[in-house]
Amino acid sequence: MPPGGRMGSPFQRGFMTEEEKASQPKITPALLKRVFSYLKPYWRQLTLVLICIAISSAMSLYPSVLTGKILDEGIIGRNLKLLIIFIVASFGLTLMSNLIGVIEGYINTWIAQHITYDMRNQMFAHLQRMSQRFFTTNNQGDIITRMTSDISGVESVITNTFRNILSNSITLIVALIMMFQKSWVLAVLGICVIPLFVIPTRKAGKTRWKLTGEAQACNDEINGILNETMSVSGQLLVKLFGKEEQEFNRYKDANSRMIKLNIRERMAGRWFFVVLNTVTNIGPMLLYLVGGILIMKYNSNLTPGDITVMVALLGRTYMPVNNLLNIQVDWMRSMALFTRIFEYFDMPVEIQNAPDAITPESTTGEVEFRGVDFAYEPERQILKNVSFRLEAGRSIAIVGPSGSGKSTIINLIPRLYDVQEGEVLFGGIDVRQLDLTFLRKSIGVVSQETYLFNGTIRENLLYAKEDATEEEMIEACKKANIYDFIESQETGLDTMVGNRGLKLSGGEKQRISIARVLLKNPALLIFDEATSALDSISESKIQEAIDPIIEERTSILIAHRLSTILAADEILVVKDGEIVERGQHKDLVKLGGVYTELYNTQFKKVDEDGLVRGAADAESDETAARSDESAVQSDESAAQEFSANADLPL
Ligand code: ATP
Repeated sequence: MPPGGRMGSPFQRGFMTEEEKASQPKITPALLKRVFSYLKPYWRQLTLVLICIAISSAMSLYPSVLTGKILDEGIIGRNLKLLIIFIVASFGLTLMSNLIGVIEGYINTWIAQHITYDMRNQMFAHLQRMSQRFFTTNNQGDIITRMTSDISGVESVITNTFRNILSNSITLIVALIMMFQKSWVLAVLGICVIPLFVIPTRKAGKTRWKLTGEAQACNDEINGILNETMSVSGQLLVKLFGKEEQEFNRYKDANSRMIKLNIRERMAGRWFFVVLNTVTNIGPMLLYLVGGILIMKYNSNLTPGDITVMVALLGRTYMPVNNLLNIQVDWMRSMALFTRIFEYFDMPVEIQNAPDAITPESTTGEVEFRGVDFAYEPERQILKNVSFRLEAGRSIAIVGPSGSGKSTIINLIPRLYDVQEGEVLFGGIDVRQLDLTFLRKSIGVVSQETYLFNGTIRENLLYAKEDATEEEMIEACKKANIYDFIESQETGLDTMVGNRGLKLSGGEKQRISIARVLLKNPALLIFDEATSALDSISESKIQEAIDPIIEERTSILIAHRLSTILAADEILVVKDGEIVERGQHKDLVKLGGVYTELYNTQFKKVDEDGLVRGAADAESDETAARSDESAVQSDESAAQEFSANADLPL
């Protein structure tokens, strides 16, 4: 997307409002069920984790109980042997608990990695099935964020959130049981402080949730800016329009919003901890006070060791409570991540195979449009009642003003979009009934914007046919008129094409893409002629390449040059999404309609700027020059002149 594509930035298209809405956590049973469905395949490992957590949590608590024994039976009881045994036992239990923790950590990480692996693959496969509409309407930064940081977030949900919930709940329950066994009065007193946590936690949870949403949107925007401006073509546009400063300011703005959000988010967390820690310290003091009073004033059986155990256990209780309350915040955050990911999973795959899709043995590449209506967006009709038929082995040239719908017609054949009304038939079968893989395999498109992967020419060619032999590749390159160029390179087919093929000229790229399509050997060839002015040598090389190809196979050409138009068997003239004229050049040019106008304003000019002229160059030049003058004089005479031109062996 060009850097000028501001409209797509998340802030301007109301992304904030969506995030604000999302800030109301909607944790439904259906969502939970769905989240847990990802854990299901790993239930065995999860059970093992659960057992490890239970054992290590209980073990980690026992040294607290031993502290009482160390004090009462060891130190106060003056028994050195018991003292040493309790100390060694306490040490051994702590060590064991930590060792089990390591094993549990390994299994947990293993599960988390496997779940994110599953999710990433599922997301990638799902995105690949999404229609062209999805990619043209969604911000690339947003797609990448969901694929990368959102899914990575899920990993931390499993390794931290789920784990913390389990281990803290177990520790809390076991500690409470132990405390009640020692002294119910002190236990009740200790837990009385707990409600004081709930209020600040809830408030902090809400604030952090909202800030996380905003930070995520801001992050998407930053990713979007980077994608737009750091791409090769984006940078080129920035440089050529001198927009460096503007782009820098846009980036700086988003960056500064991001740091403010991050600081606010961190601080919301800090305040939350200040309150919690203060409250946590009140508990032990109260226990010493009430425990002391019970011993001193009420002759309780409690020993100093018991009170120490209670304080130690209370310490162990507050931590899990603290953590569990924190987890509520993390939990909401995690659910937001899952919701964002599921949102993508739930986007329906607009274009997919019919359940009873047909895979014919072969096809001739015949195409027929029957009363086709199409709109990208509901309120704006693009194609209106388009009907035409392209017979096997023949070729059609589609011409028309820019934006008239030529590429749109082409897009409907390999089902990049589906029609709203009417039908598109390929080999006599509605494309919606055909197997998608078969359909797309049978069609080769050489588009205006040639896309080459960053790699060698060979790798780019092999993309069309993995098992192509060296001979086949050379043959295709020769046919595409690019072999001379390849041979002239030191590394031949192994020459690197650069990022998106930018180390090559436009003409070279297009000829490589023609060779690639030839290797694919499709039944139908679609050639979207470049409107951009290539130099006349490049033009003639491309023309020489495509002429024989068109001769021998079914083809559709979006044409901007007379020579291409003349090579076709029939011409369709499209205007405002309708076929307004059709026929042969010599007839159309006489009509004095859209085609004549296009001819006078476009084809003729492009031709004169450097078109393939073949043997009759000099002669046609003269004719063209003459006809130029006559075109100025009157449409009628221009038409006659050009119809004469049409007979030239162009
Ligand atoms: P050109 O010769 O300039 O390539 P074209 O005749 O091939 O033009 P199309 O690309 O088919 O024209 O576009 C027809 C109309 O559809 C245009 O008005 C364009 O703005 C609109 N359009 C094209 N692609 C989309 C899209 N993905 N979403 C919405 N509108 C679109």
